[in-house]
Amino acid sequence: MPCQSRTVISWSDTNPGMRFLKCATRVVGCDFWYWVDKPHEEFLRQLLVDLREAIKGLRQEKTELQQRVQAQQMTISVLQAELEDARREKSVLQLELQDADRRNVGVEGVFSDTARGLGRTEWDGSAYGSPRRVEKLEKGRSILWGAVACCVVFILAFFCCCVGCKLCCSSSNA
Ligand SMILES: [Zn+2]
Repeated sequence: MPCQSRTVISWSDTNPGMRFLKCATRVVGCDFWYWVDKPHEEFLRQLLVDLREAIKGLRQEKTELQQRVQAQQMTISVLQAELEDARREKSVLQLELQDADRRNVGVEGVFSDTARGLGRTEWDGSAYGSPRRVEKLEKGRSILWGAVACCVVFILAFFCCCVGCKLCCSSSNA
């Protein structure tokens, strides 16, 4: 049974662009092949080799560019994902900030009410807990303790005087 043949184009340096027939059934040991075209002139052969090299270079450049584009697209995807994460984080932080602001306003209101309840006309957060205020409070406490001590001394003196007087009266009666 004769082999089936197929047409192939050679791109070798010696026979570029020349068609030949070869065995298509791939029978083991069959080495049938046959040139279809006559050999090209030297100018045409060199031209085809040059064009083959140019095409090969362009294909390689295209592959490299496609790889670079793919790498850039991956980088863009990663950056977009990071941007989305950062936006989500920003939204969460904005909500937390709003919540903190609301709580701060509430706390300031409570402090203002307390300050008014203590007789202060205006809430001054900067003076609250300052060394000057502490000094003022300590001075007030000293004055208070002095007044208490004076009262105790006065009461003791009064009591002693009364007891002494009762003793005198009872002895004179007797
Ligand atoms: Zn064959």
